[in-house]
Amino acid sequence: MDLQLDIQTHKLPPQQMKKRRILIVEDEKPIRDMVYFALDSDGYEIVEAVNGKEAVEQLAQESPSLILMDWMLPDVSGLELVRRIKRDEITSHIPIIMLTAKTEERDKIEGLDSGADDYITKPFSVRELSARIRAVMRRIDGEEGNNKLTYGKLILDLDAHHVIIENDQIEVGPTEFLLLEFFMTHSDKVYSRAQLLDFVWGRSKFVEERTVDVHILRLRKLLKPYNCQNMVQTVRGYGYRFVIEK
Ligand code: CA
Repeated sequence: MDLQLDIQTHKLPPQQMKKRRILIVEDEKPIRDMVYFALDSDGYEIVEAVNGKEAVEQLAQESPSLILMDWMLPDVSGLELVRRIKRDEITSHIPIIMLTAKTEERDKIEGLDSGADDYITKPFSVRELSARIRAVMRRIDGEEGNNKLTYGKLILDLDAHHVIIENDQIEVGPTEFLLLEFFMTHSDKVYSRAQLLDFVWGRSKFVEERTVDVHILRLRKLLKPYNCQNMVQTVRGYGYRFVIEK
């Protein structure tokens, strides 16, 4: 491995940082604005649609992580749109929270029957909305639990090969990924560089011990914007340890 070249390529291009996207389908601007205000500060990317037609167009472009769906839309009922989204193979996995002014139990049941994951009754507070969304996101992350590792505020997606921190999707290099996977499953213990080489790189490869330091450095840079760089601790004279910061 060319160490020099290795060091020079450590910077992540900004386009590799991806926020989780939420689509709000709602014709009332004050509600869209309130949702935008609430979720933008939670670190989500918000995409808006003011009717069913726009929602369908948005969905054709890129799948969001979650949809907030108004019940009463000008061109189509939110309920009908939910049914369509859940029927479509490409969009059926996307969780949907219905926004409804209807408070009758019967309507709520109808909403959930149509495939909505949750509902929230208008008027709702910013805090309530945030909490509902977090719960749904946790559920999604939990369902795919076998393919995800969680440690502190880090979520490592073993299928997609990225890290999620504070709702940002961060692409990581293959070695940083393996290193992080090892650390997240072997936390609180000190490992020497030689041990890390054995575990992460494999015993068969000859890699210099200082290569470990290069990748540790990269890993810290990746964690730094989230104030998590101190999770990777240097234990002087021995090696490294991965901990949840106190
Ligand atoms: Ca409406």
